[in-house]
Amino acid sequence: MAAQLHHVIIGSGSAGFGAAMTLRQADEKCRITMITMDSLPFYNRYDLPQVFRGRHDWRELLDVPPAHYDDMDINLRRRSRVVDVDGSKQLITLAHQEDVSYDRLLVCAGGRGYLPENLTGFAGLMHGFGSFEAAMRLYRDLPKGGTAIMIGGDMIGIDLALTLLDTGYNVSLIATPQTFWPHEVTAQERDRLLNALEARGMTVFRNQRPVGVSRDAAKKSACCVTLADASEVTGDVVMSFCGLTSSVEFMLKADVDIERGLLVTPQLRTSNDTIWAAGDICQIWHDQEKAYKFYHGWENVRHMGELAARNMSGAHEIFDTDVENRIGIDANGQLSSTFWTH
Ligand SMILES: Cc1cc2nc3c(=O)[nH]c(=O)nc-3n(C[C@H](O)[C@H](O)[C@H](O)COP(=O)(O)OP(=O)(O)OC[C@H]3O[C@@H](n4cnc5c(N)ncnc54)[C@H](O)[C@@H]3O)c2cc1C
Repeated sequence: MAAQLHHVIIGSGSAGFGAAMTLRQADEKCRITMITMDSLPFYNRYDLPQVFRGRHDWRELLDVPPAHYDDMDINLRRRSRVVDVDGSKQLITLAHQEDVSYDRLLVCAGGRGYLPENLTGFAGLMHGFGSFEAAMRLYRDLPKGGTAIMIGGDMIGIDLALTLLDTGYNVSLIATPQTFWPHEVTAQERDRLLNALEARGMTVFRNQRPVGVSRDAAKKSACCVTLADASEVTGDVVMSFCGLTSSVEFMLKADVDIERGLLVTPQLRTSNDTIWAAGDICQIWHDQEKAYKFYHGWENVRHMGELAARNMSGAHEIFDTDVENRIGIDANGQLSSTFWTH
């Protein structure tokens, strides 16, 4: 009897989860392994601001209970970091020196928050918000009624900032070119949108460049962001929300083409025949525009994961999207964005 194909998925986010479920539907016998750095099984990360509305039990966030993975015969390997993929030997190396072989690999490793180059030395002084654990850390470290300083303010950050305002905190937003990412806005629109945020109670710093972050635990407002004109913004925590950068480092020896993300065909196959990619990590070829493009947002990402899984199982589907990319101000003067539609 021929051995069953071993499908390995790197990443257990929206793309990886959708792919695993679809692979199992397409083939009830194949081996499926998901490898993830996360400690929790899949949850929708757009729910994380809810920790400020009292949702502190991680079980409430999960999309499906942990037993579901066993029921689907999916081997979910958590807290495991991939450090290398050898595309010619079809071998994955984990940080703890274990090798895992695959027949077909799907890379759904997403992205992490981009930090402007001049601020990378200050990363240790800032709070993240990309996981349940990071969200709870922020919740614990931000005193009730305290002030969060937000650098950038992409749509993920603005969502959190509005939740903070609604729940009794203050937000100081230092606008940067990444504000409102992934939307692209004109200078005029940007002013209107920033005015709407000010009307909601946010303090907005415009046309300023953050150049440094410091922390003095002895002071009441312990954190300080220094701006290019030497003025200072003070608060209790500092966060950066400046869009995403794809997590491609472990793929550098995988024999696949990479620009900013993993480059894939419209069928989501990389330049290596046994490797596919989906979600925030990949750039998809757009034939009319003759360019590789990112398609962010949970709906696109989930669609990509499922489509890649069907193609790994023998289909030849092409990625297409009708997800809108629109930001504006509604009749009540509130910011509205298609990025937040879930
Ligand atoms: C707080 C927050 C709010 C958001 N709000 C919205 C929203 O309102 N609307 C919207 O459309 N989108 C939102 N997003 C973005 C959305 O969550 C992402 O687009 C989506 O999660 C991307 O899915 P993905 O599967 O491509 O990658 P991710 O969800 O980023 O998952 C990546 C996976 O890869 C794993 N991984 C990475 N590197 C390695 C490695 N070396 N080894 C092993 N595993 C690895 C990670 O552990 C993780 O499991 C939000 C994101 C956050 C963090």
